[in-house]
Amino acid sequence: MLVGKPLLGEKEIQAKVKELAEAISRDFAGEELVAIGILKGAFMFYSDLIRHIDVPVTVDFIIASSYLKTESTGEVRIHADIREDISGKNVLLVEDIVDTGITLNHIRERILQRAPARLAVTALLDKRERRIVDVPIEYKGFEIPDRYVVGYGLDFDGKFRNLPYISIFKRSE
Ligand code: 5GP
Repeated sequence: MLVGKPLLGEKEIQAKVKELAEAISRDFAGEELVAIGILKGAFMFYSDLIRHIDVPVTVDFIIASSYLKTESTGEVRIHADIREDISGKNVLLVEDIVDTGITLNHIRERILQRAPARLAVTALLDKRERRIVDVPIEYKGFEIPDRYVVGYGLDFDGKFRNLPYISIFKRSE
């Protein structure tokens, strides 16, 4: 198993995360926010992002999976749900990467059923070419090519999540 050269380096990621947090802070100025991280992949993006958000934030998480190794199963499983009452509140969904859009769409619909006042989505990475379900992403980090990436929270088989940068994953023969 090999991890190639960084596709996105640490500095570039951190600058983008700060930019996203500033846009979110501007749009929600004078209000409060429940930030819901989609685990496990979004944990690093989430913790860096909320450090730069300067409106009051309540944290919560949802644990979901739809991937086996490097392929989407198309079936979204929720392993642990949010605990906050979000009805009438502003909600920010924080996702690592949007690929087919199936996971985010499923979670977004689930959140909408709980009647938040306003729902916005931020995703660090977007593989647009792969989209099957069109799902709005209000705060987008980077568009990337259709390659399997690891690092900065993203894994292959549970590993590489701790890398501070993002790389294209290559399987060695
Ligand atoms: P979707 O439902 O949009 O097809 O997939 C979203 C989920 O698949 C992401 O939250 C992430 O967990 C996983 N995923 C999609 N593409 C990649 C990738 O390139 N690398 C990794 N590590 N996970 C991915």
